[in-house]
Amino acid sequence: MQKNKTNIEDLLSETRHPTVRPAEDRSFEEAAGILRAGGLVAFPTETVYGLGADATSDAAVTRIFEAKARPRFNPLIVHFTDVAAAGEEVVFDARAEAVAERFWPGPLTLVLPRRAGSRLSLLCSAGLDTQAVRLPAHPIAQRLLAEADLPLAAPSANASGRISPTRADHVAESLGGRVPLILDGGPCAVGLESTVLDLSTATPTVLRPGAVTAEDLGALLGPLAEPAANPAVKAPGMLSSHYAPDKPLRLGAETIAPDEALLAFGPEAPDGAAVTLNLSAGGNLAEAAANLFAFLRRLDESAARGIAVMPVPDEGLGTAINDRLRRAATPRSEPQI
Ligand code: AMP
Ligand code: MG
Repeated sequence: MQKNKTNIEDLLSETRHPTVRPAEDRSFEEAAGILRAGGLVAFPTETVYGLGADATSDAAVTRIFEAKARPRFNPLIVHFTDVAAAGEEVVFDARAEAVAERFWPGPLTLVLPRRAGSRLSLLCSAGLDTQAVRLPAHPIAQRLLAEADLPLAAPSANASGRISPTRADHVAESLGGRVPLILDGGPCAVGLESTVLDLSTATPTVLRPGAVTAEDLGALLGPLAEPAANPAVKAPGMLSSHYAPDKPLRLGAETIAPDEALLAFGPEAPDGAAVTLNLSAGGNLAEAAANLFAFLRRLDESAARGIAVMPVPDEGLGTAINDRLRRAATPRSEPQI
């Protein structure tokens, strides 16, 4: 016991070199110990890697904002093991129950009214009277939630405004010494952040497109509201410039300059780029989504002047891919979230 405690204290103070651990029994014990002591643990979900902290502790949640340099007005998603645990913190109406039954656990976040008696830190809601909640499907996320026995606030494990991490080494690069333990679960299967569905209003609204598409949700819920022209008002984390690489992005590219890197899609990638990565040579949108952030990072690190991106069909998962590409292409004139 004493040994275990010392170990956790070491990990909490050893912030210069984050420890990347394979997801084995010992790692879960350590991770749960760190979380219960108010520390941060990065872990894989099926969408992207999350930066987890005890969602019931103001001090622990504050650490997330500090590590990411995330503005306090940007609310956090809280992750649970089961619907009953989530139901203690937020109110599920019949629509929310139906959607949870159909899509949870999975890459879908629900924005629901916060219960008056909720134990969750008010910092997770960032001053709103709603709370974003999710049940992740990834077995490592589920086991960590169960072993920590806590709801975990977990935004994407990247510095605010940067590309979300889909591999453990992305987290280590982006958050460097600011997270003591990263559980390595390999690459994330979906690769895009969760769909965010607002069910706190009369008409459901998709605030952020993702792997659970508007078509999927509309089939269950009926008509959805168009997202507000400026979703930043409703969801403060959704300012248009987000997920941004350093190099400029040129979208819808049909031709390529020799000093550009090419992010290709489909079988007909033009020749002549300084470097080319194809999201999916076979034109598969799920494969493209899973590759998107890792490939943007690699092209951003190349010697090319900018990144040209071939058109991606704007249907199904392509809607979410294009949403992230548009944000990545938006110049950083707004505050970064
Ligand atoms: P991240 O956790 O980094 O993937 O981002 C979570 C996204 O969910 C952010 O863009 C937030 O703005 C959004 N979000 C979280 N909580 C709420 C909420 N209560 N109302 C609306 N949007 C939310
Ligand atoms: Mg994020």
